[in-house]
Amino acid sequence: MDSHWQTVDNIRTKSNLTPQDVIDLEFAMLSIVSDLGTEIHHKNSGYSVRLPRYRLRNNCTGNLAELRLHYRAHHRELRLLGSLVERLEHAAQRSCAHVWERDLSDRGHRSSYYCRKCGKYR
Ligand SMILES: [Zn+2]
Repeated sequence: MDSHWQTVDNIRTKSNLTPQDVIDLEFAMLSIVSDLGTEIHHKNSGYSVRLPRYRLRNNCTGNLAELRLHYRAHHRELRLLGSLVERLEHAAQRSCAHVWERDLSDRGHRSSYYCRKCGKYR
């Protein structure tokens, strides 16, 4: 951890930071908070996991396994986030005193209405 703090101190005293300095600074700071148990602290406080970065440009065969790991982790997070959004939307729609308006964009044969306040359709 001391070498990461040294990196932070070295970069803090520089006047003109390069893009690599900023990348190194982020890596050092994330390493420091990781060593301090940031994931456990965030989880216990109700926050999601922090997804690590991955390289967008790389030789594709060399890091295929790594990219698959990132893909699965992001897919899990996306599904979790989607279910949270859906649950909150349903809760908002159940507690809404709906204000129904005709959906004029509906070109089908059946008329439909949507709630101006929460977006629910009927
Ligand atoms: Zn409503």
